[in-house]
Amino acid sequence: MKALVYGGPGKKTWQDVPDPEIVHATDAIVRVETTTICGTDLHILKGDVPAVQVGRILGHEGVGTITAVGSSVSSLAVGDRVIISCIKSCGHCANCKLGLYSHCLGDEGQSGIGWVFGHLIDGTQAELVRVPYAENSLHRIPPGVSDEEAVMLSDILPTGFEIGVQYGRVKPGDVVAVIGAGPVGLAAIATAGLYGAGTIIAIDTDENRLEQARLFGATDAVVSGSHDWKQQVLALTDGAGVDVAIEAVGIPETFTMAVDVVRPGGNVANVGVHGKPVELHLEDLWIQNINISMGLVNTNSTPMLLKLVARGKIPAGALTTHRFGFDQVLEAYDTFSRAAETKALKVVISRSRMA
Ligand code: NAD
Ligand code: ZN
Repeated sequence: MKALVYGGPGKKTWQDVPDPEIVHATDAIVRVETTTICGTDLHILKGDVPAVQVGRILGHEGVGTITAVGSSVSSLAVGDRVIISCIKSCGHCANCKLGLYSHCLGDEGQSGIGWVFGHLIDGTQAELVRVPYAENSLHRIPPGVSDEEAVMLSDILPTGFEIGVQYGRVKPGDVVAVIGAGPVGLAAIATAGLYGAGTIIAIDTDENRLEQARLFGATDAVVSGSHDWKQQVLALTDGAGVDVAIEAVGIPETFTMAVDVVRPGGNVANVGVHGKPVELHLEDLWIQNINISMGLVNTNSTPMLLKLVARGKIPAGALTTHRFGFDQVLEAYDTFSRAAETKALKVVISRSRMA
């Protein structure tokens, strides 16, 4: 088969590799029909994630058809159309039993690390992928949900919802600020309404993304970096600050922005992956009664989100801005890596578009 292979910082090739095989009785092999690229893949290619070894097949998002199952897989069958969750879940370790799949203790890749695809084991930017713990890590797709919609459930939608909206404890009527309107921020915006957010303020430096945010449910937009950005946000509240501030960028500046606009008693939900230390001014914050949360997505909300996507309640399809065939995967990376110019949100790579 062909797959996108990591060759060290800055290097990747679409090349022939051996087909994956069933290794454990709980595995399945999935023929990937659709995959996509995440900001994390760009981090890996910059060399920011040293755990990824040369020769690793990249990608942790995908949708496809099961072509083989291990001897203990009984609830899935060859021919099933499935979403591949970006997080492995053995389903029976202490953490999985708590719904904390992000820290699954199963020993695939590494015990305690849920994100293994395209990281510690071969990933989904390939014609075929071996999926460990298939019964818990795959989700059968109901009729009527397209591949493009379904692939947003591998990572983006559960991340914005679980780590942004749920960890942020959004309640009916809340004013919610989402800092960063990339695919993950847009996923938080698109799901904040599930808990009745009254006002959803998108904050980004990129005006195109602010325009997109309105299509996903933002009621207001504020240009980040404008001299009065904070006054603009406060004007949309009772003056005390937002109830929930969701950080979906991953830099110190935007984390500080989130802490700056939250009201006493409010919640700051950090979703961004940070590469640098962030200053936390406890000398000012201790008296504010705020909660600060963070984490890696668990994907335990995926079955629920899938139902809502199937009923047309979450505009998952609208996240796709560019489409490529598997044989154009390098072009897809180029388009995605220049998102500010190309206006890319998610670039979708499909078998059906191959020349
Ligand atoms: P992205 O890079 O596409 O989007 C980030 C957005 O932030 C962009 O629209 C950019 O214009 C905006 N931005 C940059 N600087 C800004 C500033 N100063 N003020 C306001 N906006 C600014 O990334 P994404 O794919 O949407 O992911 C967002 C973050 O979520 C990343 O850090 C990613 O690694 C992280 N992530 C976390 C998890 C998790 O489990 N916690 C999972 C997936 C992704
Ligand atoms: Zn587990």
